[in-house]
Amino acid sequence: MVRFEFFTKGGARAEFAFVEVKPTATPANPEPGSAALEASPAEPTATRLARLAKARSKFTGKSGETFYWPKAEEASELLVGLGEPGKVTAETLRKAAFSLAKALKEHKESEVEVALPELAAISVTEVFQAFAEGFLHSDYRFSRKTMDKNDGDDNGKDLTVRISAAAEEAELQAALANVNAMMEGIFLARDLTNRTANEIYPETLARAAQEALEPAGVKVRVYDKAEIEAIGMEAFLSVAKGSAHEPRFIVMEYNGQPDSAERTALVGKGLTYDSGGYSIKTAAGMVTMHCDMAGSAAVIGTLLALAKAQAKSNVVGVVAACENLISGTAFKTGDIIGSLSGKTIEVLNTDAEGRLTLADAIYYATKQLDADRVIDLATLTGACVVALGSEYTAAVTNDDAFMAELKAAADVAGEKVWQLPSDEAFAEKNKSKVADLLNSPGREAGTVTAGLFVGEFLAKDVPWIHLDIAGTAYRDKPSGYLPDRATGQPVKTLFTLLNPRNS
Ligand SMILES: [Zn+2]
Repeated sequence: MVRFEFFTKGGARAEFAFVEVKPTATPANPEPGSAALEASPAEPTATRLARLAKARSKFTGKSGETFYWPKAEEASELLVGLGEPGKVTAETLRKAAFSLAKALKEHKESEVEVALPELAAISVTEVFQAFAEGFLHSDYRFSRKTMDKNDGDDNGKDLTVRISAAAEEAELQAALANVNAMMEGIFLARDLTNRTANEIYPETLARAAQEALEPAGVKVRVYDKAEIEAIGMEAFLSVAKGSAHEPRFIVMEYNGQPDSAERTALVGKGLTYDSGGYSIKTAAGMVTMHCDMAGSAAVIGTLLALAKAQAKSNVVGVVAACENLISGTAFKTGDIIGSLSGKTIEVLNTDAEGRLTLADAIYYATKQLDADRVIDLATLTGACVVALGSEYTAAVTNDDAFMAELKAAADVAGEKVWQLPSDEAFAEKNKSKVADLLNSPGREAGTVTAGLFVGEFLAKDVPWIHLDIAGTAYRDKPSGYLPDRATGQPVKTLFTLLNPRNS
């Protein structure tokens, strides 16, 4: 747990320097490794100090580099590199703060005083916001090891961060409240996605949404299978047919701007497990498929963050949660199914099921919930991972102005989004010979055609963005402050977009 305190600039000495150091032209060799800095019992103090001073002189200040100098009598010193002056961005600061927090925890320090760097291109408040975010990212852990239940992990240690900066404390406190709200949303999204399919299935996902959101002031309505049937969501129900766990339809309303009629819908894919159905996945490809509800987790996390930050916006979250399994009752390839919109769909591949659930959810959001603009987010296509890896979220849209707004929010948030083309030639591929649409037009431009399929189910012509987070929501390896497994993307982008104080 990381706590922040503030003290007036000049009021106390910054004992840990968060410094900007120009990288030297000659590469440091060897790197100062922490193992080399350990005191050996036989080593005289003078020799040890000389050795540390030498290692410190090799600190180049490149981005993410840290140097720790433990001292017995006075405060220890920790240097964090920010890279080349003039090229420091909010993202550099997030990564540096994350490195700093990790180094402090590794060295079992419990208190740190930080002098925030003053940068020409970024305001002090923004520097602090990025710094606090990077620091708080170090708090996230997901583990089911029995040992960790007893808090056997040193990373769990409390850390107090004392900040000195050239800014009003009230301003920094407000920024911190905002960052804290955002981090709560990100961590909730990560937790929901990391929890495996034996823990999170439609019923428990709905309950988790209620438990997290209702105390924060978000109205949550959960529809059971009979109610979903009464609404007429045939495409969604077709996917859910194979599982003993019944589907749930979850609608979450946050009204932070009651004097406005404007409302944004966030529609998240909520496949709590996807075996592929009769178009079955490979054994290896199925292992992480509890993460196929990462879109819905990001919707729930974003709503929590907005509510906690008391954001001035109206947002409705919509999740059609179910499992895609094989059984005697499962839907089959070749089935021609209906949908809430009335359109018929030829099912050529039961593993292209996400778009079927989204079809009914997005129709409901624009028909029944009166959304003026819609963002749907889904771990939808393998093609997206092939094209953009774990780095970029893919976007398909019908409105370039709305897209520009989302892209600007993503840039501020430090998340990467790449818009794909979406003209009529791609939409043609979704047409079936025997039904209105088919759900699997083949490998070509698979991310675009999947997105456009979902867009076919908008009940009215409103600005819409489809985000394919198949690569960005869940990672094999950590990267910077992003952990392995669930990343919580794109909560930051959506929070920034829908929380006007950030724009
Ligand atoms: Zn699938």
